[in-house]
Amino acid sequence: MQALTVAYIGLGSNLCDPVHQITTARAAIERLQAVDEIAFSSLYRSPPMGPADQPSYVNAVMGVRTGLTAAALLAKLQQIEAKQGRVRTGERWGPRTLDLDLLLFDEEQIATPDLTVPHVGIAERAFVLYPLAEIAPKLVIPEKGRLSELLERCPMNGLQRIED
Ligand code: ATP
Ligand code: CA
Ligand code: CA
Ligand code: CA
Repeated sequence: MQALTVAYIGLGSNLCDPVHQITTARAAIERLQAVDEIAFSSLYRSPPMGPADQPSYVNAVMGVRTGLTAAALLAKLQQIEAKQGRVRTGERWGPRTLDLDLLLFDEEQIATPDLTVPHVGIAERAFVLYPLAEIAPKLVIPEKGRLSELLERCPMNGLQRIED
């Protein structure tokens, strides 16, 4: 049996009622076998990264405890993306109903053709760092350093917490 791991997942959507997409994805992740939610951030609205001619995004970060391997968890997340109508057009950072990124998997560092952990953008992206800090302020990111220090270097860049 695989030991339990704490993993962080970044959720993003900018099509087809993004708040609903994120809420639906959260429930779908919680329903996975051997994956249990331990924390969920506020929802945030952020300007699009890359092509600017697309709606703004809704983002959040979820912490889970899991008995899955990182590769198995990514495969499950991709199934959820597909089920929620994610169409891979080939345009980098283009609009999508749902994007689920595996941000962290304990302190593991993974570099395979299909999976890089910690996630490539983790240290620079406001829509990842701010929600992550809400649920895990003391995190230290392998190779990148303390989350609190990364945040000090990362302006909010238009990121706004959505009032509930
Ligand atoms: P970015 O990765 O810069 O946030 P993106 O989320 O738009 O961009 P996608 O098109 O969703 O990129 O994914 C491209 C590929 O990234 C996926 O097919 C997947 O195999 C790979 N990938 C590598 N590392 C990760 C990770 N940590 N989480 C999710 N996907 C990853
Ligand atoms: Ca579960
Ligand atoms: Ca992404
Ligand atoms: Ca992705």
